[in-house]
Amino acid sequence: MTHRLSALMEQLQEQHLDAALVQREENVRYLSGYTAGEACLLIGPDMRVLITDSRYTEMAEQQCPLFDVITVTGAITLWSEVERLAAQHDWRTLGIETTYCTVDWYEKAVQAWPFLQMRGMDTVYEKMRMIKDAEELAAIRRAQDLTEQAFYHAQSCVRQGISELDISSEISYYVQKRGGTLAFDTIVASGPHSSMPHAQPSMRKIQPGDFITIDMGARVDGYCADMTRTFVLGKPTKEMEKIYAIVLQSQLHALDSIRPGMVCNEVDRIARDYIAQNGYGDCFGHSLGHSFGLFIHEEPRFGPSCTQVLQPGMCLSVEPGIYLPGRFGVRIEDTVCITADGYENLTHVPKEIILL
Ligand code: ZN
Ligand code: ZN
Repeated sequence: MTHRLSALMEQLQEQHLDAALVQREENVRYLSGYTAGEACLLIGPDMRVLITDSRYTEMAEQQCPLFDVITVTGAITLWSEVERLAAQHDWRTLGIETTYCTVDWYEKAVQAWPFLQMRGMDTVYEKMRMIKDAEELAAIRRAQDLTEQAFYHAQSCVRQGISELDISSEISYYVQKRGGTLAFDTIVASGPHSSMPHAQPSMRKIQPGDFITIDMGARVDGYCADMTRTFVLGKPTKEMEKIYAIVLQSQLHALDSIRPGMVCNEVDRIARDYIAQNGYGDCFGHSLGHSFGLFIHEEPRFGPSCTQVLQPGMCLSVEPGIYLPGRFGVRIEDTVCITADGYENLTHVPKEIILL
């Protein structure tokens, strides 16, 4: 935590800001270790304060030894508390999270703190969170481990007549019983539903010959995992096998190119070109992948417009897909961590076409 706070101090100086007000739960956790909601941080060169209410005081004091915990009663005192601290430390400029604040909140803040000039610093946090440290990587590994266990459990439940919702419920129950939560709503898409990249699980019952796409992730200690596998109940057609092989090959080509110094959109292009060369360019509409961590979608992305250069410690998904509307779709998603000389694949579930 200390190195994150020092990095923030450098950023404040660089941006000519006197202090930062951090309200977004994930950023609060990143900088303080506090795991619940209803709290904000005020961080300046000579102070670190966590403001919450009495429901969370004790927990905050235990979790955040680097912060002074201030307990307020209701939102009205929060405004005056910030005003008091700003006056005490002579702050003129305050960094806020503009992509998170509502217009309502901002209007109130302008009225309450007319002496403060507020500026957005969302991209500062975004950049800081791009490189995962050892502690974060360990949490991501725990999340991935639970995700894989839950996936194998879900797969063992699949048989003719079970519904998509049965399968997604099994995943929720499995993950939550073991102390995780869902990093995002699980996707279980069978048969023709699998042509919708983000289909919602339904009452549809699994039939022989169905492709079943499961896109899932557990969240452990705040950190997300993300994995997609597509498998078949029974026997796939020749066309299903062909599409599966193209998606897998495009992923393997993209993975081969991943190393520090590579530009994100080049990795996307390698997978996209391969799919296009095989005649399915119009059937892969989304980006190849995204970073993840405290949020399921972070920067940078393996997308056509992302020019970020890969650096060790970045964690991204690699998830090409081909979707044939009304018929079926295939997506295969691994996550990788960029290392000094290449990458480590964090996903261990086999990728050969799985027949149940
Ligand atoms: Zn996913
Ligand atoms: Zn993903």
